[in-house]
Amino acid sequence: MKFATKAIHTGEEPNLKEGGSGDIVVPIHLASTFAREEIEKPTGGYEYSRTLNPTRKALETRLAALENAKHALAFSSGLAAEATLVLSLLKKGDHVVAFDDLYSGTKRLFNRTLSNFGVEFTYVDATSTDNVEAAFQGNTKMIWLETPTNPLMKLCDVRTISEIARGQNIITVVDNTFMSPYFQNPLDLGADIVVHSTTKYIGGHSDVVGGAVILSNDELYKRIRFNQNAIGAVPSPFDCFLVLRGTKTLAVRMERHNHNAQKIAEYLESHSRIKKVNYPGLRNHPQHELVERQMSGFGGMLSFEIMGGLKEVKSFLQKTKIFALAESLGGVESLIEHPWLMTHSSIPEEARKRSGITQNLIRASVGIEDAEDLIDDLKQALES
Ligand code: PLP
Repeated sequence: MKFATKAIHTGEEPNLKEGGSGDIVVPIHLASTFAREEIEKPTGGYEYSRTLNPTRKALETRLAALENAKHALAFSSGLAAEATLVLSLLKKGDHVVAFDDLYSGTKRLFNRTLSNFGVEFTYVDATSTDNVEAAFQGNTKMIWLETPTNPLMKLCDVRTISEIARGQNIITVVDNTFMSPYFQNPLDLGADIVVHSTTKYIGGHSDVVGGAVILSNDELYKRIRFNQNAIGAVPSPFDCFLVLRGTKTLAVRMERHNHNAQKIAEYLESHSRIKKVNYPGLRNHPQHELVERQMSGFGGMLSFEIMGGLKEVKSFLQKTKIFALAESLGGVESLIEHPWLMTHSSIPEEARKRSGITQNLIRASVGIEDAEDLIDDLKQALES
């Protein structure tokens, strides 16, 4: 089955058997516990809603199908998914090599929470595979990648890095939030585990917070599933329903995000007040060849530098009318933000500068409104 069909049907087949109601949409099962007829036989495999819930099961089945995987586990946020994953697979003394341009909340989780449990982290510019390999130590157990990165849209070669890692028994994790499973499938490229903040494109409407871990390895799945229940950072049935509903339109939304972002990137690139545009769909993206090898589209995220300093940036950001000045991304509505003062402000100033996050960098999550209206909005803010 192709993506758009799986995104509507997998995990949500109507129950037409006797006693079934034929719901075309999986109901929101609010029960916290499930009655059984026999002591050792939980009805339908359900015991208690933290352990498993029918609405969550439908979502997990759907998410696994979208990443061409055997298993998916849903969580109450992207960060809950990440924390449970690391706590399930690593222990004191283990070492992780991570891309230095990761989402700042992931870095905060690594540096200020998980490092307290004795897990060590080294950050490298993973645009170079050699840098990743050079950072391996005897105790390296995991590689953590994002591609494209947030907010600089840098890419890393998932296939090559996963292959090198596999040879040394190192687990490759890819945060695929920016591309969504519609434009990139890291497991097909050789990665072991995919992570999503389903808050973003998968949910798609800025009305739910959620996360997922997706993988095919049975052994790793069992360990993470154990801790999904043991730690308990699970999504509510209503949140599962919202994310599941979001998946149904993912294919059409991603096409439109991509279409609008491409037009906006080209418009900004040609504007005299714009210094630089970071978007994988532009021919001058430094890794355009890699874009073609591992992604089937470019997505709706871009960043750009405007001429001038903080004063000009603030004035621009306060003048957009359709683009809302807000953090987060991946929803139908366009958002714009300032990484230096907003999403990435928790990263020390020197580290921000080193990774290329400047004071005149702006990040946009391009929505699915009319592209001309969006361009007009940016134009009036740039030129007024
Ligand atoms: N990964 C990426 C790439 C993100 O952008 C975010 C949030 O912005 C997360 C993970 C964390 O997800 P959540 O906010 O759902 O916890």
